[in-house]
Amino acid sequence: VPEIISLGEALVEIMRQEVGVGFDRPDFFVGPFPSGAPAIFADCAARLGAKVGFIGTVGNDDFGKVIFDRLEKDGVDLRYCYIDPHLTTGVAFVAYFKDGSRKFIYHIGNAASGVIEEERIKEDYFEGVSFLHINGSALSMNEVWRKAIYRAVSLARERGVKISLDPNLRPEILGVDKVRDICRPVVEAASFVFPSGEEAMMLTGKTTPDEACRFLVESGVEYVVLKRGDKGSTVYMKGRSFEVPAFKVDEVDPTGAGDCFDAAFLVGMLRGFDLEKCARFANAVGALAVTRKGPMEGAPFFEDAMSFMERS
Ligand code: ATP
Repeated sequence: VPEIISLGEALVEIMRQEVGVGFDRPDFFVGPFPSGAPAIFADCAARLGAKVGFIGTVGNDDFGKVIFDRLEKDGVDLRYCYIDPHLTTGVAFVAYFKDGSRKFIYHIGNAASGVIEEERIKEDYFEGVSFLHINGSALSMNEVWRKAIYRAVSLARERGVKISLDPNLRPEILGVDKVRDICRPVVEAASFVFPSGEEAMMLTGKTTPDEACRFLVESGVEYVVLKRGDKGSTVYMKGRSFEVPAFKVDEVDPTGAGDCFDAAFLVGMLRGFDLEKCARFANAVGALAVTRKGPMEGAPFFEDAMSFMERS
């Protein structure tokens, strides 16, 4: 029985080898690296020692194999993952620029990543599970994924599973109002929300991250954990909030830090850490995640994360 279930898109990332080279001329790429926010979350939670189930779809090709092999090697339960015989695995091309910005070209929504068969969301699978983690990227994908996620949330809730949401919003595609609408059913069910400042404001319509996080707590979310990049994080709950500073590292690739952070916070809860320690642990894991090139490559194993946290 998994302790945590994550569902959503899995894909590979293929990135420009050199920082500062866009997509408008021939040049070198590196990859494929396994990716997709819900898959990064699952892999990191498994590396940190949790029993994790991942539900998603890949194509019947080598990119799909790269994803499956990686998740399997790290112990993620893939019994309800699907290899679609007719579609190719989702791909994101990424270019990094010197100012820290990124540019993406996606082949995701019309690939295997955009598909989920409803019968993969099995009632029994949620029995005895502690957390169901939802990512806004999967909610943004298409109607098929939304339906599957709402169903998973409702099956999970009926069985006492706590819902966790990383809004990971893409308003540039859907618009803010639509994004808010599609997140609402999950926010209302959520015990944990892990937003960035922008996402918190977008979800609530408030004008500061602080106001937005307080509002989410007042609306019934038990813990709102605000992610602040190299500034660390802030935990909000009823009647209290506290900041936890970041760890100092050299950032190589920021992709995936947020998903690894979410995974670490929930693993901390599973291990009975107090809230301060959960946030410190999550900051440590988020910091380690940015030290390697590739979305999942920096995801640390439990002992390494603990010794980094205690050493720093
Ligand atoms: P992404 O969407 O790229 O995965 P995010 O916006 O969801 O990221 P961030 O705030 O960038 O999340 O990172 C999550 C956490 O990881 C931060 O709250 C922090 O604890 C840690 N972290 C991220 N970047 C750094 C950094 N440069 N130095 C130290 N810690 C970092």
